[in-house]
Amino acid sequence: MKISASYWGRDVNEMYKFIEKCSKEFSVVRLSYWIFGLNHPSVISKLNSYRKKLGISYNVHMLWGNIDLSSNIKNIRLGSIAESKEAIDFLSSIGGGVLNFHPSLKPLFYKFFSSQEKAKLFGNEVESFKEIVSYAKDKGVVIVIENATSFPSNYPEFKRSCNFTFHKNIVDKIKYPNFGVNFDTGHYFQHSHTESLPLPKVFSMVGKRIKYVHAHDNDGSYDQHLAVGKGKFPWPEFLDLLNSYGFNGTLELELSKLSDQIMSKNYLLNLRPEYF
Ligand SMILES: [Zn+2]
Repeated sequence: MKISASYWGRDVNEMYKFIEKCSKEFSVVRLSYWIFGLNHPSVISKLNSYRKKLGISYNVHMLWGNIDLSSNIKNIRLGSIAESKEAIDFLSSIGGGVLNFHPSLKPLFYKFFSSQEKAKLFGNEVESFKEIVSYAKDKGVVIVIENATSFPSNYPEFKRSCNFTFHKNIVDKIKYPNFGVNFDTGHYFQHSHTESLPLPKVFSMVGKRIKYVHAHDNDGSYDQHLAVGKGKFPWPEFLDLLNSYGFNGTLELELSKLSDQIMSKNYLLNLRPEYF
């Protein structure tokens, strides 16, 4: 398993400084696709120079909330697929890696939709991801979908994505090797109390298809994004399960401060040095 740093900000120059600083501790960095101008040729060339000079590789978090891969409005869905393909091209141009999506947010008044209409939206999402995953296949890009949180609070169907039913359904329908689940530890833990969803059960549902991890902690009350080990998430059990399911991917420390990311890395290395 690898451990990755994470840049959450919105500014390209700040991102460069972050990469330079974190490269002393990490060899993988997550970038955020919502940064304006991220796929400009000059940014791509700078990121590639870091790759060569500092030995850095990248993963990317896709836009979320602004795209809708499940939409029944044709041009919104097609536009969302086109944006996703641009993000794949971007990631491919900086060496390839993992591109992380959230499940699509749902339209206003979704709760009044009939079960047929809901099934149609899910079918749209499956078709969109099939197209995206197949496009990414030869470009060195792995597509993952994260278990979301209840933010934004008007997201009517967050449970669907927090209890992994959505993830199980979609990975069962799309069997490409470059498609899987991003297990977000904090989002899981925030909801596991109410969902009564023990970790072994999640792993029995999607364990073989976990291809990436967002590692952060909380005390179970809300999505605090605390440093690893500073909340109540069961890290030893989680790492042992990942290992027993043959996970060989990246744990991204999805924390805003680099100091928290370094502290978290040391915590994980101390806990199970044999896995890293
Ligand atoms: Zn996350």
